[in-house]
Amino acid sequence: MACAPEPTTPAAPTTPGPVRNGETGYIRSWPGELPIVLSVPHDGAIAPAEIPDRTTGVTVRDSHARALAEAIRDALRERCGRAPHLIVCELSRRKVDCNRALAEGATDPVAIRTWREYHGAIDAAEQAVLARSPHGLYLDLHSHGHPKKRLEIGYLLKADDLRLPDARLDADDTVAARSSLRALSRRTPAKFSELVRGETSLGGLLAARGVPAVPSPAEVLAPTDPYFNGAYDIAAHGSRDGGRLDAAQFEVPAPQRDTPAHRAATAKAVAEALEVYFERHFGTKLR
Ligand SMILES: [Zn+2]
Repeated sequence: MACAPEPTTPAAPTTPGPVRNGETGYIRSWPGELPIVLSVPHDGAIAPAEIPDRTTGVTVRDSHARALAEAIRDALRERCGRAPHLIVCELSRRKVDCNRALAEGATDPVAIRTWREYHGAIDAAEQAVLARSPHGLYLDLHSHGHPKKRLEIGYLLKADDLRLPDARLDADDTVAARSSLRALSRRTPAKFSELVRGETSLGGLLAARGVPAVPSPAEVLAPTDPYFNGAYDIAAHGSRDGGRLDAAQFEVPAPQRDTPAHRAATAKAVAEALEVYFERHFGTKLR
């Protein structure tokens, strides 16, 4: 699983710093070369008084989500010599929620423009990925405060779906078709139960690297467990409704993101897990 560049691999391109997209200045993007797109919709710190606060929906900030995303980007670049794309909304969630449909996420004109620029930047990253690769993976990063301190991975499937027995998950392809891994479920040699909760699922690969995650072989969703199964971002940009970008929502607990050391450990595990995941399921080496 070593990821040192082979002798024939050209030197890693120097990645420029982030660029700001569009007119608002609230969306920041880091271009990448890997077939991976990361986004952070809920860790914005800028809250101009002239943009009114949203009056409905959730407005809580996802603390440390951006810092974790940057750590994951650094870990992937270090491991694979290439970086993922990263898109961050810097406008406060009190003003815009980019992980909701536009009607719920924004009402103010500048907030609406910010929402459009965020999704436009993800679309542009997707196009850049698909110009180089037949497929790619999009991860939308969030922070949760649920009692069980494990990374919750959302594929747009409800907890009830994820409690189905393997035989049912593998025989009933309408479940895979409702997931944000729809395209990948048809590409991978693995059964769907393996793809979402087996040893080579994202959760399984992370758990094996010291990052407890659900779904995974070791963690089940009890009926009383709160669980984030994914929202607008992975529905809009994942493969459920078409396209070649598969997607997952990562909801990260405090112990996996709260300090630089914890973020570095999580990021290293994510980079290692993604390398194996791409090789196993996409048939692609990340180097
Ligand atoms: Zn969030």
